[in-house]
Amino acid sequence: MNPGVVKRLTTSVLRKAGSLTRQYRMGRKVILCFHSVKPMANHSHLHPDAFGGILRWLTIHTDVMSVESLLDADRTDNPRPAVALTFDDGHKDNLTHALPIARDHGVTFSVYVTVGLLERDPRAQVRFTSLLRQKTKDFEALSWDDAGSLIEHGCEIGSHTWDHPMLSHLSDDGIEFQLGESREILLRRLGLEHVGMCYPYGKFGRNVDARVVRATERLGYRYGLCVEHRGVAPNDDRFALPRFIVNSGSLEVLERQISGSEDYHGAISRHMPGFLARKLSPTDFLEPPDAPAPLSALSSAP
Ligand SMILES: [Zn+2]
Repeated sequence: MNPGVVKRLTTSVLRKAGSLTRQYRMGRKVILCFHSVKPMANHSHLHPDAFGGILRWLTIHTDVMSVESLLDADRTDNPRPAVALTFDDGHKDNLTHALPIARDHGVTFSVYVTVGLLERDPRAQVRFTSLLRQKTKDFEALSWDDAGSLIEHGCEIGSHTWDHPMLSHLSDDGIEFQLGESREILLRRLGLEHVGMCYPYGKFGRNVDARVVRATERLGYRYGLCVEHRGVAPNDDRFALPRFIVNSGSLEVLERQISGSEDYHGAISRHMPGFLARKLSPTDFLEPPDAPAPLSALSSAP
């Protein structure tokens, strides 16, 4: 049989299995990952209208709450899914575009900032924009004042490292710098003692490993967020939590993510042998060749 047909049939069966169990699945918890909300849509930006549509749907069908509330809440007997909204990187439009829409819907979100960008480290800016394949001038990061405004409106700020490395590529010292220095600066600039960590790229076993996860716990972070397309399971490690990336305004896709019928993606990704993952998704293991190397030592900090 044609491989495309096999794939479509398998996907259809797995989705059906997810739908059948959906109605029995109490206590569902889902963390969603966004990046940027602005009218000029591209692969990682959502149009404000799409973001508004998503929030409208979520507030009707789910209970939207902070990451920590979601982790700590006992939802065992609750048929309404608990959902947390997170934003990666620290784009200025999280304040200018996403926040007003969130306020209209009575929800807040968490933003994990690439701390070197807010510190206006030029090397971090060049590195980050080359990761995005954008010109430096086309990207605008939040300022510390912006981050303060988000906090005033009930949003949470956490760390997305200093300059967005693939953490699993770094030495132990490099991991310590990226996690420790960013946490230190969040405390100094915003007075935040208890913050969450969101790992750049975020795929456990590919960009994040056990050294990273345990360093996050040891350095006093509250939790760690990965990217793995499935809901949060009761036995998940608090420092390696799964999230769904939302990169389209499709409510059909969103509904599948919330219901659980897409969870098989995350399970496959987590359990796929390394050699196969490298063959199927080689870019998951590679830093872009033209990006400046991430900082990896306290002595080289600007
Ligand atoms: Zn990122």
